[in-house]
Amino acid sequence: MPNHFFSTVTPLQLREMIFKCPSGWITLKPGLCGICGSDLNLLRGSESLLLEPYASFPFILGHEIVGEIFDSPSGSEWHNGDRVVIEPLLPCDIRGVERCSFCATGNYNLCENFTAGSLPPGILTGYTKEAGGGAAQLMACHPKQLIRLPKVISDEKAVLTDSLASALQPVLNNFPGDKSTVVIYGAGITGQHVIRILRYFDSKATLVVVARYDFQKELALAGGADKVLTCPNRQALGSAINARFLPSTFDGGNLEGGAHFFFDCAGTTKSIQEGLLALRGKGQYVMIGTAAKVGPLDISSLWFRELQITGSSCYGNTKLNGQSIHTYSKAVEILSHEHYNTAGLLSHTFSLDKYKDAFSAAFNKDRYRSVKIALDMRTP
Ligand SMILES: [Zn+2]
Ligand SMILES: [Zn+2]
Repeated sequence: MPNHFFSTVTPLQLREMIFKCPSGWITLKPGLCGICGSDLNLLRGSESLLLEPYASFPFILGHEIVGEIFDSPSGSEWHNGDRVVIEPLLPCDIRGVERCSFCATGNYNLCENFTAGSLPPGILTGYTKEAGGGAAQLMACHPKQLIRLPKVISDEKAVLTDSLASALQPVLNNFPGDKSTVVIYGAGITGQHVIRILRYFDSKATLVVVARYDFQKELALAGGADKVLTCPNRQALGSAINARFLPSTFDGGNLEGGAHFFFDCAGTTKSIQEGLLALRGKGQYVMIGTAAKVGPLDISSLWFRELQITGSSCYGNTKLNGQSIHTYSKAVEILSHEHYNTAGLLSHTFSLDKYKDAFSAAFNKDRYRSVKIALDMRTP
């Protein structure tokens, strides 16, 4: 019998399926598969309805995958037992179509062909029919999705690759100067990575983090945050970034002379509003959290302070010290270094049959003190 989770509102179920591997693809045995914020958005129905053309149902959930090769075509460079992570994007190369202009320049996260080719529509493995999915005992993946893991990286670290890569790309694309004040809004896994990446690359910027829960505060400080505020009001946030608070009759007051950068790792109406107000003139707002429909916003700061607003989608290639780098591979390399502090980031693992508990822990961050949750397929 299918096992329904939130059976009345979400279509998620655990069930037996016949495994099929497209010719030329590789069979992988997932070990750990992280639960992403976008998985939660999907289950709670807060994903953008306009992204519907970019997914195809039914699919096997899971795109933050570490595993080992189970079977590969003869002559392949892969051998059974090789440990890998999967870069889950499904752009032109994976779809077997001629490269679009973005793929041709390495910006395949902005591929224009996510709905084209032989595969059903989808941006990522884990949201796409017939393109595998990590919450399973076996999955098919395209050889170009595989990245070999060095021995020094445990599965528990490697499962953080996807979340790290998603934060790495926007941080490297918007790297603050050492004298900058930076607000990192949200102290879940993305915010925690943003703090650690900045310190990993020796940023001396002042990092002010906004957390929702107290337990996130300790982790943010351990990662290198200078100040952490838990659910601050506007005045408290302003004072933490040395902005002047200017009272207004309505809407909670304005801030003058605030931060240079605002990394929005929440993607809510409130985070966007506070971001617009917390930035000084020419300040840079970077959306990492995947916002969709938001409530009423006062966007006067956008023109009044000539703010720069940018988005960020997944990972592809970016630049580091003028050199082009592959973000996902760089994330693996960073995780292989001891001084990238991952303590406490993978907070829980659950076996696949306990998936309901896993999603409960992921949804109830405060009660479980959860950061990144992973499904564990390693034990039968
Ligand atoms: Zn993800
Ligand atoms: Zn493309």
